[in-house]
Amino acid sequence: MTAPATQTLVLNPTTCDGRGLCAEAAPGLVGLDEWGFPLLPGGGLRADIPGERLAEARDAVHACPALALHLELAARHRR
Ligand code: SF4
Repeated sequence: MTAPATQTLVLNPTTCDGRGLCAEAAPGLVGLDEWGFPLLPGGGLRADIPGERLAEARDAVHACPALALHLELAARHRR
């Protein structure tokens, strides 16, 4: 069985309202800054998520009522 491909977790800061439900759903993956806005791994608006952590990333995406998070195929896996 092959490991699932790396995907990129993407935050849209213009739709995020900073309530932190994503961090509650995936506390090992998403942190919160001092104002309650999400901090993705690496601190940017995009974070590559290895296959073994995709379940956590999906939990964060599904928890977001503002649709401010999504997953896309990581750049090195696109053709
Ligand atoms: S759940 Fe969505 S709206 Fe709430 S802090 Fe996380 S990304 Fe922002």
